[in-house]
Amino acid sequence: MRLFVGVKSLQLVSRVLLQSCSSPAAGWGGTGPCDVLRRVHSSPRPPSVLKHLTAKIKATGPIPVAEYMREVLTNPVTGYYVKKDMLGPDADFITSPEISQIFGELVGVWIISEWMAAGRPRSLQLVELGPGKGSLAGDILRVCSQLRSVLGETLVSLHLVEVSPALSVVQAQNLTGTCNRKADAEDDPVYRRGRTGAGLPVSWYRRLEDVPADFSVFVAHEFFDALPVHKFQRTDKGWREVMVDVDPDKPDALRFVVSPSPTLASSILVQADERRDHVEVCAEGGVIVQQLARRITQDSGAALIADYGHDGTKMDTFRGFKEHQLHDVLSSPGSADLTADVDFSYLRRMAGGSVTCLGPVSQRTFLKNMGIDARMQVLLRNCTDPSTRRQLISSYNMLTDPAKMGHRFHFFSLLHPSRLSRPSRPAGLKLERKRSPAPLPVAGFSELSFS
Ligand code: SAH
Repeated sequence: MRLFVGVKSLQLVSRVLLQSCSSPAAGWGGTGPCDVLRRVHSSPRPPSVLKHLTAKIKATGPIPVAEYMREVLTNPVTGYYVKKDMLGPDADFITSPEISQIFGELVGVWIISEWMAAGRPRSLQLVELGPGKGSLAGDILRVCSQLRSVLGETLVSLHLVEVSPALSVVQAQNLTGTCNRKADAEDDPVYRRGRTGAGLPVSWYRRLEDVPADFSVFVAHEFFDALPVHKFQRTDKGWREVMVDVDPDKPDALRFVVSPSPTLASSILVQADERRDHVEVCAEGGVIVQQLARRITQDSGAALIADYGHDGTKMDTFRGFKEHQLHDVLSSPGSADLTADVDFSYLRRMAGGSVTCLGPVSQRTFLKNMGIDARMQVLLRNCTDPSTRRQLISSYNMLTDPAKMGHRFHFFSLLHPSRLSRPSRPAGLKLERKRSPAPLPVAGFSELSFS
């Protein structure tokens, strides 16, 4: 169905769409160049993860897949995310914000349209979970800069939840240049602080619960897929947890085993009416969604979660990526990214009834609804260099082609329950025949019309 977004949201979208590729240093954006295809360089890492894991398993027995994933990815000393710059064409994998600035710009428009729909609160906390190289946040800030007249005196601040000290340095460099510093005290919940070129405060946290309570729009792009999953197998004796063990035939190799008896996780994390034979449950992701739902209910705001995933249909999706190729998840742990598809049906269940959930809709649908085609036309009109034009078209295809990222990635949103309800009429008003105005549709989840 074709829906019309309120005039204000439409004006806002067109104002951003009509800008050509602009320098982030000029506004609230970061300090890096405005590039269409971004590049990073990977650094070598010490091969000590396998030793650490085999010693642990030999001492205490097989570990759940979730613990394996957590150790490999976020162990404070050896973790993949903690040590490695893994994002980009020359590294292990590439994400949409790294492919094209248009992606982050459209997310920026979404954030501001939700801020407007909430009645333009006086302060706006932009909270990103797992910000990678800070590219998405930089593109969002550039949109805020372009729409400064819309935001007026609103106090905008950026809050980054990042477990990796190494990546926080990359983010700080990209978003604030040299204008940032590490906290003096180890236990300071804000472990780094900085300011963008335009003076917006940026704070880094290890955990979502440390971000101050206030009106916030939360963004998580390819964050939930990096959180540890438990894996469960249906057997003749009921649900059993899949564990990681040392291979008795090859002492320096790992293998999967099925726990002979129920574990606490297999007893509480599998739904009673589950129909699949194998399930992956991201309990940590569930807890984070519950926190988001609580904060949105209490302080208003919204969350936008974008990731590859399914709606409770897929089974075994746990996999590794190294240098853009699939990689055996148990081989040379710590050298490759580990990931599992996000189960949006689980996130919806964990969000509970206190918030409204929208989606998942495919990335293609979301970006098209947000006006990516119009934005592309503007960029192409302003670009005469044939090689840049080719890059623009190829990154557009990568983001939207159903066979590439267009159908693999999905957008899901949590909203305050008042966002989609009709405003109630003050008691005693005798206007029975007039209906209350319908709430504005949520951009991205409904088609925008420019007519
Ligand atoms: N959003 C970025 C990066 C995705 S990679 C992009 O799309 O380009 C996953 C990001 O989440 C990295 O920044 C990683 O360090 C961070 N991360 C992974 N697990 C985390 C955790 N438990 N808490 C906070 N950040 C985490």
